[in-house]
Amino acid sequence: MSEGDDIRPGEVAVEAEPPGDASLRFIGRIRTPWRERAECPRQGRQDGPECRIEIFEPWIAALDGIEAFGTLEILYWLDRARRDLVRQSPRNDTRTRGTFALRSPVRPNPIGTAMVRLVRREGPRLVVRGLDCLDGTPLLDIKPDRCPYGPKATPEGAEVSAAP
Ligand code: SAM
Repeated sequence: MSEGDDIRPGEVAVEAEPPGDASLRFIGRIRTPWRERAECPRQGRQDGPECRIEIFEPWIAALDGIEAFGTLEILYWLDRARRDLVRQSPRNDTRTRGTFALRSPVRPNPIGTAMVRLVRREGPRLVVRGLDCLDGTPLLDIKPDRCPYGPKATPEGAEVSAAP
């Protein structure tokens, strides 16, 4: 347990199996201005500070074509969060709620997501605005925003569209 892991009144922790049933690879690292959880915004804002997403080899080639998108969905691993609370009392809120009724970083699988604005690409790095994670947070995935011209789910029985 680390800074910010104390239990608040009304919170409930459980004994859970140690995590280990899925293997994710960290494909990069997110550089932000925030070193402490208390400094981090609760949710990123697209007018927030520039942050850098550094992609590791061999995944840099996977950035090909990304400049075409103004908005990206970023998935990251909130690596410094505890993972055993089923009920939580968010900071500045005395009401206790179930973990799945919150976007708290504290969850059994601490995956964070943010829609960010792509400012520019600098080789293996993306400069973006809209993040809310600590400096050094591991990167899980990047997806282009769904846009009006993007692929739509095909109704059952219909032909599959040729859109990318
Ligand atoms: N936007 C994401 C989401 O909705 O899935 C994350 C929201 S979460 C409320 C953001 C908070 O998580 C930050 O304010 C900070 O307190 C905490 N946090 C950020 N990076 C973290 C990390 N690497 N490990 C643990 N907690 C982190």
